[in-house]
Amino acid sequence: MNILEEFDTIAAISTPLGAGGVGVIRISGPKAFEIIEKIFSNPKFEPRKFNHGWIKDDEKLIDEVIVLPFFAPNSYTGEDVIEIQCHGGVNVVKNILNLVLKNGARVAEKGEFTKRAFLNKRMDLSQAESVADIIHSKTSDFAKASMKNLSGVLREKINEIRNDIFEILSKITAGIDFPEDVKEPEYEYLEEEFKKIIEKIDNVLSGAKTSNIFRQGAAVAIIGKPNVGKSSLFNALLSLDRAIVTDIAGTTRDVLRETLDLGIPVTLVDTAGIRDDKEISEVEKIGIEYSKTSLDEADLVLFVYDASKGLDEEDKRVLELIKDKNYLLIANKADLTEQKEEPAICISALTGYGINDLKTLLKNKVCDIEPENLEFITNTRQQTCLEKARNSIGQALLAANVRELQDLISIDVKSAVLALDEITGELITDDILNNIFENFCIGK
Ligand code: GDP
Repeated sequence: MNILEEFDTIAAISTPLGAGGVGVIRISGPKAFEIIEKIFSNPKFEPRKFNHGWIKDDEKLIDEVIVLPFFAPNSYTGEDVIEIQCHGGVNVVKNILNLVLKNGARVAEKGEFTKRAFLNKRMDLSQAESVADIIHSKTSDFAKASMKNLSGVLREKINEIRNDIFEILSKITAGIDFPEDVKEPEYEYLEEEFKKIIEKIDNVLSGAKTSNIFRQGAAVAIIGKPNVGKSSLFNALLSLDRAIVTDIAGTTRDVLRETLDLGIPVTLVDTAGIRDDKEISEVEKIGIEYSKTSLDEADLVLFVYDASKGLDEEDKRVLELIKDKNYLLIANKADLTEQKEEPAICISALTGYGINDLKTLLKNKVCDIEPENLEFITNTRQQTCLEKARNSIGQALLAANVRELQDLISIDVKSAVLALDEITGELITDDILNNIFENFCIGK
């Protein structure tokens, strides 16, 4: 869609298709009222008042509904919007949508309502992106964090930094354009200001890792030699009987993955026991190779050994593989021994002893920030723009250090402004925009 294009009228079913209490059909655009007047029995609308009546195809009754009118610009999209609340059956909502389409609307594309909200300046791009985050959030904590972006905190932060940069740019430009009247800013001043800006950008970027963990979750691999209780621990953490548990070494050959909701989505990975034995089968060897790959992908490793036997040479060989990783040392089968296995965390996957404490520890280890303490979240697109802005200001700082002509310095400063404008959507191409709204669902 071209940004300057005059909008037509779009419609879509905004609730999931299925049997439910209520279904919502949304219409947005210049013909929204004209269309509803043709198909609704009670079409005299006033702002902020809903109307009750029937949707009709000529004289044929389709459904008894409530219609909510939103007069432009006071609506989600900024256009005239009509929301029809009908009974929640698949066929009822489809029949009403078809009638709306027959009377002059076209089917909305994915995310088109939110795209219009952005293009009509009802929200900036960072807020529009948070709408998709809220809809697709895998955990309630992530939904809470996305809500902060929807309220505009990221936009405010970015605008604050952008204004700082813009102020410097104005001073440099004034010095260049009116050398007689305005003195160009001192280089020491520029250096100071550039450093402050870099610090502010770094502050925003410092939450990037946490944002990514909130968004994508963390991978946690359970590693150890055979029979120490890895599959039992996998099942205990998930409260499921997902992995096969036996006392025969080499039972787990495939890598098993399941999601555990700890506020952040954790992908728990059960792996084949790693052992060095010439007698092991080809299948088990492949399983062991998979385990080693899972290690590379893991954000955290749970290294398990048998507390009743203590750490032996074979355990130590596996431990050697993960010594540079972020890992927790876990002494399982604590029910079989009185011995405290300091500094390991003692648990029993069989009785459940220590499992809840382990979950808390695990969560803190992959993400040490509580969602309510996270000021805002960023996605990779926003992080890339921030990094671009940071690099440009870094270049400007170097140039100021060597007393480069301010004309040249201003080029980098301008690039930084443009990079930040991409975050809020002040400067955006159709391609980037389409890419962003591709991730939405129809009706949003
Ligand atoms: P894996 O090969 O490391 O995945 O180990 P499994 O989970 O298959 O367990 C191997 C054996 O140890 C099975 O017989 C389990 O019942 C037993 N086991 C696992 N965890 C515990 C535990 O905490 N206490 C006791 N007593 N036995 C356990």
